[in-house]
Amino acid sequence: MHEFSIVNALLEMCEQNAKEHNMAKVTKVEIKIGKLSGVEPHLLETAFDTFKEDSLCAGAQLVMHVQDIIVHCPLCQKESIIKENVFECPTCKSTECRVVDGEEMYLMRLEME
Ligand SMILES: [Zn+2]
Repeated sequence: MHEFSIVNALLEMCEQNAKEHNMAKVTKVEIKIGKLSGVEPHLLETAFDTFKEDSLCAGAQLVMHVQDIIVHCPLCQKESIIKENVFECPTCKSTECRVVDGEEMYLMRLEME
């Protein structure tokens, strides 16, 4: 499943971070999930809880922030939140919008001890 490989990469990132800072364990993992990333937060959480057991994240709490899709319109220079898969500027109806946020999933913050 898609989410499982994402979680594996996420856990690796956390472990690497913990080792770099000489920390024994990760207590909290905060991630941002763009609505366009295709990641299902519920599935991701399940995968995280399953795989974290054998890692430094065993006791970690996963906090997910779902990021809206934000586009920048080159015609009216506005940034707007759009609904999924309708890449149109809500202000001037231009379809030349560029996505500036909401595409990726990434690690925002780690708490370690
Ligand atoms: Zn516009």
